Amino acid sequence: MLGLMQDWPLLIHRVIDYAGIQHPGRPVISRSVEGPMHRTTYAEIRTRALRLAKRLERDGIRLGDRVATLAWNTWRHLEAWYGITGLGAIYHTVNPRLFEEQIAYIIRHAEDRILLLDLSFVPLMERLADKLPSIERYVILTDAAHMPQTSLRNAVAYEEYLAEADADFAWASFDENTAAGLCYTSGTTGNPKGVLYSHRSNVLHAMANNSPDYIGLASRDVAMPVVPLFHANSWSFAFLAPMAGATLVLPGAKLDGASVYDILETTGVTVTAAVPTVWLGLLQHLDATGSRLSTLKRVIIGGSACPRAMTERFERDYGVTVAHAWGMTEMSPIGSFCSLKPEVAGLEGEARLDLKMKQGFPPFGVEFRLTDDADRDLPWDGETFGRLKVAGPAVAKAYFQDDSRILDARGFFDTGDIATIDPNGYMTVTDRSKDVIKSGGEWISSIELENLAIGHPDVAEAAVIGIAHPKWDERPLLVVVPKAGRTPDKADILEFMRPRIAKWWMPDDVVLVTEIPHTATGKIQKTALRERFRDYRLP
Ligand code: ADP
Repeated sequence: MLGLMQDWPLLIHRVIDYAGIQHPGRPVISRSVEGPMHRTTYAEIRTRALRLAKRLERDGIRLGDRVATLAWNTWRHLEAWYGITGLGAIYHTVNPRLFEEQIAYIIRHAEDRILLLDLSFVPLMERLADKLPSIERYVILTDAAHMPQTSLRNAVAYEEYLAEADADFAWASFDENTAAGLCYTSGTTGNPKGVLYSHRSNVLHAMANNSPDYIGLASRDVAMPVVPLFHANSWSFAFLAPMAGATLVLPGAKLDGASVYDILETTGVTVTAAVPTVWLGLLQHLDATGSRLSTLKRVIIGGSACPRAMTERFERDYGVTVAHAWGMTEMSPIGSFCSLKPEVAGLEGEARLDLKMKQGFPPFGVEFRLTDDADRDLPWDGETFGRLKVAGPAVAKAYFQDDSRILDARGFFDTGDIATIDPNGYMTVTDRSKDVIKSGGEWISSIELENLAIGHPDVAEAAVIGIAHPKWDERPLLVVVPKAGRTPDKADILEFMRPRIAKWWMPDDVVLVTEIPHTATGKIQKTALRERFRDYRLP
């Protein structure tokens, strides 16, 4: 027997309809790519999204077509997501930090028909356009006054394009499992792979994460995703914030410490989210200027492990609560959040910090398994390392236009992360399976060593890689970027680490470098480091 409740498909445009009706005047404040700050509201975003949908339809865009965006977080990018999906088409967020060949590859692979791009990316696309036959039109996210001279096919300024349609448009109707968004993972090996979100998965993921132990926004919040819309769905902020009716602040192209500080303070942000590199920049700016954070209450840090010193500084020096989050593009992306369950809420001092270093527990809708290489379940004792596997309605079951099987016999996806889970359900990522250092048949967590090294007062950034070793198979090498103006002593760094880890985990050597390479999403590029130190001789 079926229930007798209404059939109300979980479609993305219902989110902006809701915000437009319940929170019509709530501000959406952006730093425009042209420079000045820009203010609009959810009601206006909705109207303009309707116009965009109508205009795209006139260009022949239909259900299932891909429309790419190559853009920073601004109101135009946000309304583009709603306009594209409201038509049943698919937003394909292109990450501008990918290598040029990868950008060309994913646009060709996705067969994008229209590309919406910021002014910053016009030269890049002019270089690549010849290789992109599927793109029929380039829409530049600006107005006529800022429109550059360009050779891009059928180029038009977004504001002119919108002006050609009115908002008298009815959102298309279709099944909630219809594809909505496409995001390629940066692919540290091989070609990038496309993760294809559905309307249902995006809506469910945003609903699950809009609860207090997760992102949990309220209409009183002022939320700023620094994490780009092109990085793993912007951790759902484009859906979460309008769903909650929160004020939304979009920081545009300037993500350095001073610019992030400026927008946090001038717009009164209460909740923000980004990868550790962004917060490193902000903390350095605060150090240099002695400035305070006057409105910020919570910072969500994820994408790579949040260093202990970062949590400590935010919480102790600035009174800002840190939420450590873990996830991946394939999970829409949020997989876990480190909030305090009652079992651990009473922890203080170092014990509380120890807990906050964990990646946390999953929201409703994400299931965890911890297994060995033979797919046998491992104990959740906080010590046994295993492969972390996940399942849920917002977890990928296949990649776009790719036949490889990515689920195991029980329907779980192998995250490629090695983790422990403690008896309270808190998961700790100890490594990527390909980065873990295999020494004498045991595993050493590169992340744990990096977190430790970064606690040394002279260390700005640290990376640990395995170096081939005749006896032990691999031994850890610590690569360090010193803080500006400091030249730490190698022995001093090792002495700092020694009392805090097992003896056999100690790096065999330390090298100081001026820079550590990063991937397109701000992670340490271990493949490049391993290449660079391939012939390194440990002492
Ligand atoms: P990309 O490589 O394109 O950035 P993802 O964002 O999907 O792709 O990366 C997901 C991976 O990032 C995870 O599998 C994990 O290894 C790593 N990661 C994400 N968040 C954390 C975290 N809080 N701590 C440690 N690793 C993390």
